[in-house]
Amino acid sequence: MNVLITGGAGFIGSNLVDLYLSRGHKVHAIDDLSTGFGANLSQAMKNPNFKFDHQDIVTWQGLEKAVQWADVVFHMAAVVGVKRVLEDSLNVIKTNCGGTERVLEAAARLKWKPRVIIASSSEVYGFNTKPSFAETDDLVMRSDDHFRWCYTATKLMDEFMAQAYFMERDVPVTSVRLFNTVGPRQAGAYGMVVPNFVRQAVSGRSIIVFGDGNQTRSFCDVRDMVQMLSLLAQNEKTAGKILNAGNDREISILDLAKLVKKISESTSNIKFIEYAEAYGRPFKDVDHRRPDLTELRKWISFTNKWKLEDTLEDLVALETKKQQVRIPAE
Ligand code: UDP
Repeated sequence: MNVLITGGAGFIGSNLVDLYLSRGHKVHAIDDLSTGFGANLSQAMKNPNFKFDHQDIVTWQGLEKAVQWADVVFHMAAVVGVKRVLEDSLNVIKTNCGGTERVLEAAARLKWKPRVIIASSSEVYGFNTKPSFAETDDLVMRSDDHFRWCYTATKLMDEFMAQAYFMERDVPVTSVRLFNTVGPRQAGAYGMVVPNFVRQAVSGRSIIVFGDGNQTRSFCDVRDMVQMLSLLAQNEKTAGKILNAGNDREISILDLAKLVKKISESTSNIKFIEYAEAYGRPFKDVDHRRPDLTELRKWISFTNKWKLEDTLEDLVALETKKQQVRIPAE
């Protein structure tokens, strides 16, 4: 099978690359390396079934040909991370909406259309206050703090585009609302909590909790996430649908900090800071973000294999190795 992965050098994209190469498929990844890293593909680069193009999804002339070659397209390329989204909104809109439109249009023009999976985000549920979010739930954006919804709106537009291309142009596309995903290769530079906590704990610096730490998240290991995405791609009956994907086990951010501290046997203290200090501007956090996976389970049979503790153990071991290389023991 031929698999095209946009954003293939990113955190989830590169894990998808490895999954499909390990199954013996041919994989073509494209990435502009704005947030992805070439190093994420160092294993893949050795594989003759792998091809990489350092290209921007919005301008790349080869996209139509690449989509034509593919049996399955995973469209993961997007501008992500709270910081970049706030500072670089025009680029967010152009990349996230423009890129998706190009992928879907390229698929729509083909007689034999590839299966397409579009990465959406749990961000679309916004400030819905339900304890867990189902696909039929309200999407709640507040009028205050207007610009933070820019990213959310692009992901929603991607979902609408996917449904319109399914209904009007017969593209077999599924949108997947990815909930918090963690694991190897997640970069800490974009503000994500788990890589931050692991780095802080391993280096013995304070573990910095934003707000009071009572906010909760549900973390899914990326190796489980890519299995779910591949099962969804296999199931043509999910075309035209919007589905949640993630892990529904919930943990407070304070408990996460304590867990990371325990697993890393760290001497770090846990420090609380205000959101305004953390983000350099006033910021209202989402209190809870947990996927309702009832609908997903109707379509794929999958049980998460990675417990949060196991993922954290892995990450702590990787970070310890990295920091030992950076600071050689005297
Ligand atoms: N967070 C934190 N310390 C950090 C980074 C994040 O306490 O160094 C908090 C953040 O305020 C949020 C949660 O951890 O409540 C998850 O943050 P992340 O950016 O990873 O995901 P998202 O908020 O997009 O779900």
